[in-house]
Amino acid sequence: MLNQGIGSWPARRARKTPDRTALVHEDRTWTYRELHQRVLRLAHALRALGVERGHRIAYLGPNHPAFLETLFAAGALGAVFVPLNIRLAAPELAYGLSDSGSTVLVHAPEQADAARAAADRAGIGHRVALDGPGDGALGYEELLTAGGTDPLDETVAPEDPCMIMYTSGTTGRPKGAVLSHANITWNSVNVLVDTDLAADEVTLVVAPLFHTAGLNMTCLPTLLKGGRVVLLGAFDAERVLETIEDLHVTHLFAVPTMYDAMAALPRWATTDLSSLRTVSCGGAPVPTRTMDTYLTRGLAFSQGYGMTEASPGVLFLDKAQAAAKAGSAGVPHFFTDTRVVLPDGRDAEPGHRGEILVHGPNVMTGYWGRPADTEAALTDGHWLRTGDVARIDADGFAYIVDRVKDMFVSGGENVYPAEVEDVLLTHPAVSECAVIGIPDRTWGEVGRAVVVLKPGAVADEPDILGHLRGRLAKYKIPKSVVIADTLPRTASGKIIKPVVRDRYASAPTGHRPHP
Ligand code: ATP
Ligand code: MG
Repeated sequence: MLNQGIGSWPARRARKTPDRTALVHEDRTWTYRELHQRVLRLAHALRALGVERGHRIAYLGPNHPAFLETLFAAGALGAVFVPLNIRLAAPELAYGLSDSGSTVLVHAPEQADAARAAADRAGIGHRVALDGPGDGALGYEELLTAGGTDPLDETVAPEDPCMIMYTSGTTGRPKGAVLSHANITWNSVNVLVDTDLAADEVTLVVAPLFHTAGLNMTCLPTLLKGGRVVLLGAFDAERVLETIEDLHVTHLFAVPTMYDAMAALPRWATTDLSSLRTVSCGGAPVPTRTMDTYLTRGLAFSQGYGMTEASPGVLFLDKAQAAAKAGSAGVPHFFTDTRVVLPDGRDAEPGHRGEILVHGPNVMTGYWGRPADTEAALTDGHWLRTGDVARIDADGFAYIVDRVKDMFVSGGENVYPAEVEDVLLTHPAVSECAVIGIPDRTWGEVGRAVVVLKPGAVADEPDILGHLRGRLAKYKIPKSVVIADTLPRTASGKIIKPVVRDRYASAPTGHRPHP
């Protein structure tokens, strides 16, 4: 028996650093020895329920140690872990469960109703509730207590599937990316090679673990290295600041909207942030405004670009280069390669825009149950088509311009909304914004800005458009502005452009329509 998958990490860590703290959640801590023992018990219990290698085990809940225990226990059995998004409604959850063919669903108390409804619809064999047995569910802790602690005898190869992780659903229905143990491991190796992440790291994870960035970019590399992971259940800006101070957090990973919320609090100015060595961000471009706010506290962001399909790290910009290469997403991770290609498949000249493709040991094996999508995404030689537009400068630094699908053409010129949005966000009254292309008789398409104002702030269309003049080329400046109350976002904080288009492409401008 030899388990070379990530299910063996707790056992390997327990062999090296049994007494170090692995996890902190609320007022409890888990050493690596305890984590290993609990994973072993859970794996035995799951096996007793009939879970075998290749079976899928789904998890539904906010950040909690049980998420990681279930991931590792599935890995210990050669089973496949399926994290589900807590914001999904019961029919969408049922889709995730039946699409993945999961046989067991582990869930948190907050999701009990949704879990029951979805499991019934999808015909799930076993439901396991974190808060104990009842209502047709088995109890999580009860299972663990009953599970044995003999070593497991399962052989797991690096190429075996480790998890099915659903994409964020920013451009359409989420797709299940099949990530192997090797994919996940190589991504962690990339992170450890390219960052200062150390064995004494205290990593605070506030981004949801069911998305690839929260789990794979910080949490798993920290555990691989033997550091400490602090989990917060739900994002709460006040608690994040409190926790940084109380637990001497050294590394915080979050998405831009979370960083903004923290900096907007009164206690931001008085919170001791001196323990922080790294603030990192990924999944969306960090607005210049956010970067500047943190720089005034001496904190430069390290940034990344990636996607679920690449486990997810592709490009990395170290904080040391953040100023010199502002706006860049960095250079490829150590073991990963990229190319920028034109629509006809030829490589773009340096400095020219094209779609960025990714190759490396972290690129998924394919989409679960979607051979046509897999074929479209993984081109010759296993190069992943990202659907993102990028250019690479003379020093090899890549700039993510926008998604191919979000770009529009105005008067023959390509407009990349992300660039316009970055400038819009420097308007003092603008809190959030999204730029979309709408049909226009003269120009083919023109931009429309959908803007959410800061509480109490006042600004109208001429004022907002005036702010862009002189800062952007004329063809990039939107022709109209809609003031909205909120923007639709995914659980990882990304604006869902297709929904913005549906709601606002034909809305009267200058108004505050209630969607
Ligand atoms: P779906 O594929 O379901 O439409 P999604 O692409 O948002 O959703 P993820 O895999 O979570 O799902 O996100 C990856 C995408 O996020 C990338 O393809 C890219 O468009 C965007 N992204 C990630 N990091 C950055 C970054 N640093 N700068 C700009 N965009 C980024
Ligand atoms: Mg995608």
